[in-house]
Amino acid sequence: MSHHSVHIHPAVDDGVKRGNDSFTGGKLYCHCSSDQVEVTVDAQCAHNHVCGCTKCWKPEGALFSMVAVVPRDKLRVTAHEEKLEVVDPTAAIQRHACRECGVHMYGRIENTEHPFHGLDFIHTELSRDEGWAGPEFAAFVSSIIESGADPQNMDAVRSRLKELGLPPYDCLSPPLMDAIATHTAKSKGGL
Ligand SMILES: [Zn+2]
Ligand SMILES: [Zn+2]
Repeated sequence: MSHHSVHIHPAVDDGVKRGNDSFTGGKLYCHCSSDQVEVTVDAQCAHNHVCGCTKCWKPEGALFSMVAVVPRDKLRVTAHEEKLEVVDPTAAIQRHACRECGVHMYGRIENTEHPFHGLDFIHTELSRDEGWAGPEFAAFVSSIIESGADPQNMDAVRSRLKELGLPPYDCLSPPLMDAIATHTAKSKGGL
């Protein structure tokens, strides 16, 4: 049975693009019609995934965002940085958004104790460059209910994600959960 009536995210609804191994980065642009914020990333992204949490920026009408990480020293704002503001200064991930169009250009973790410190979060759909590594899994799937998705439709959503080759998890993927637990165990002296 197919579940094409379930719209996950425009970048994956027609099938997941797998990316190019020799790709070394590109530019991201906000959605303003002029004076676009431009972010330059000098690296391929990693851990790209669709995310159902309520915090990640997503396009109008999408159930999920699409988000990946890059080393923070490979990312710089190269135009109109003055238009950026942090969405929620109290959040672990400081999401730098364009104050005019609302698009999140990058998320940064300033807490050096955080397991993902050193990685910036980006949305590769903001790039015109082809070759970004495609999404590999779906995170925080159950959380889409908090954004208004119908709880009765979750079987169809998870079936569609599996059909697209995006294993659904209700937290992060097992390798990322293991990385967090390893970091926590080491910081407590347990490893
Ligand atoms: Zn903008
Ligand atoms: Zn998210």
